[in-house]
Amino acid sequence: MIEVRINKDCQAWGQCVFDAPEVFGLEDGERVKWRYVVEDSKLLSVKQAERNCPNRAISVVENYEG
Ligand code: SF4
Repeated sequence: MIEVRINKDCQAWGQCVFDAPEVFGLEDGERVKWRYVVEDSKLLSVKQAERNCPNRAISVVENYEG
């Protein structure tokens, strides 16, 4: 499994929603919500969201066993 974290630098631009809509979403268009733990099959799209986040707010922890 993969753990997905978003820190306080997120300004809800929504880029991650385009990259991985199955993991990220916007609530009321102004607050990001996301799945904290996702399947390994989502790694590519989550990594893309991490790379493309304009605020570098996303971090991804692989091999999460929590
Ligand atoms: S792309 Fe980054 S700044 Fe934009 S909503 Fe996602 S986490 Fe927040």
